[in-house]
Amino acid sequence: MRRRIAIVGGGPAGSSMALELLSVGVDARDMVILDRAHFPRPKLCGGAITWRGTRALERLGIVPEHGLTTNCLEFRSSLGSIPVRERGEQWVYDRGSLDHQLLTRVVDAGVELREGVTIRGLLPGVDSTGLETSAGVEHFEWVVGADGASSRIRRASGLRGGIKGRLVEAVYEGGDESVDPNVLVFDFDPVLDGIPGYAWIFPYPKPGASGLFKLGVMDGRGRVPGEVLRRYTADLAERHGFRQVSEKIAGWPEHYFGPRVQASREGLLLVGEAWGIDALLGEGIAPCFAISEYAAKRLKSALDRGSRRVRGYELGFFATQEGRNLLYQHRLANMFYDEAPHRWLRVLFSSPALLRAATSGDEAYGRLAHLAPRLGLDFVQRTLKQRRIPSAAPLRAPNPRYAFD
Ligand SMILES: Cc1cc2nc3c(=O)[nH]c(=O)nc-3n(C[C@H](O)[C@H](O)[C@H](O)COP(=O)(O)OP(=O)(O)OC[C@H]3O[C@@H](n4cnc5c(N)ncnc54)[C@H](O)[C@@H]3O)c2cc1C
Repeated sequence: MRRRIAIVGGGPAGSSMALELLSVGVDARDMVILDRAHFPRPKLCGGAITWRGTRALERLGIVPEHGLTTNCLEFRSSLGSIPVRERGEQWVYDRGSLDHQLLTRVVDAGVELREGVTIRGLLPGVDSTGLETSAGVEHFEWVVGADGASSRIRRASGLRGGIKGRLVEAVYEGGDESVDPNVLVFDFDPVLDGIPGYAWIFPYPKPGASGLFKLGVMDGRGRVPGEVLRRYTADLAERHGFRQVSEKIAGWPEHYFGPRVQASREGLLLVGEAWGIDALLGEGIAPCFAISEYAAKRLKSALDRGSRRVRGYELGFFATQEGRNLLYQHRLANMFYDEAPHRWLRVLFSSPALLRAATSGDEAYGRLAHLAPRLGLDFVQRTLKQRRIPSAAPLRAPNPRYAFD
């Protein structure tokens, strides 16, 4: 039987896209998910889902098992610390386990899953697109690229991509008294040390184990050699009294959302990280759910019209709440990682308005764009009062030995 829609990738983007398509009335028999992996498969990831993502999962009727909850994000650096309290808790998962549970839900709903199938290329046609796979060529009315950071579908279709970051991560046990398993720590000292990103310390609920953490570093511009990021992670672990459990500190790229990234062609849509994720913190799971909710509605409407085009796919998403916020995160990432990192870190850790918003418990990470006017006004008022713009001069590097350029 010929399926109408091929979803390439069975991660959170592919699974949520299938579930959202089902919820808008697409028949399970019209879809197939193809993935080169066999599930459960490992995925390098902190596994943290901020509050809006936990809400999205609940909306899909899914509360996955074997996770844990945290009650706070903490932004810290040698300049200070800000507890970021969301409207609800965050969830943390082992990604292999989370992705498997989501995909099982999709398969239970009747969607075909083909594992161990690698997509090698695309053959665009008039009324269908050919997928060149390790099992031969197959034609579909629609192809959905949910194939992650290095999306083959994006590259094969010539769509313009975004900025790529580089991340490293490993599993640890132990930790000193400053480590709280109920908090997701985002440490921005790497910015002061010349790395455009942050280091994280997250609890890790590996199924069948306890007392584990994941530590890693994000270079949000892909500029820093992986070796430097690994050394940074190992030293961060040592400073906090951790012992490494995983064999090595492994690396993986990220692909960030931005206003110029393209995500559609005739008969083809990108979702999840193939399109792009939060450029400031590299949060990808929650954006996957929100993008899929939007993409499924647009695809259903094209199917109903008998069309292979989704006009204004990117622009339409910019108008959604998630789209506006991903653009805001893109803007913040430019400020913190490129334009004047030391100025904006000074502002981040000294703004009373920002501290009030962060600790209020009324906001949600990834939903902060609406604060921009208030924070902007606070910045202007404080600048006028102090009669100078906060300095962009380099702050003292806490760990100067990481200077690499
Ligand atoms: C070190 C690290 C830590 C992170 N921590 C967090 C975090 O704590 N919280 C968070 O929200 N995000 C985090 N992220 C980002 C998050 O992991 C991703 O954004 C998220 O996995 C994107 O989901 P996806 O479904 O779009 O892609 P993926 O999860 O990458 O899934 C893509 C799927 O496509 C398949 N595939 C790829 N190419 C092909 C091909 N050619 N043929 C067939 N199949 C293919 C793959 O096998 C894979 O199963 C982290 C990323 C990294 C690297």
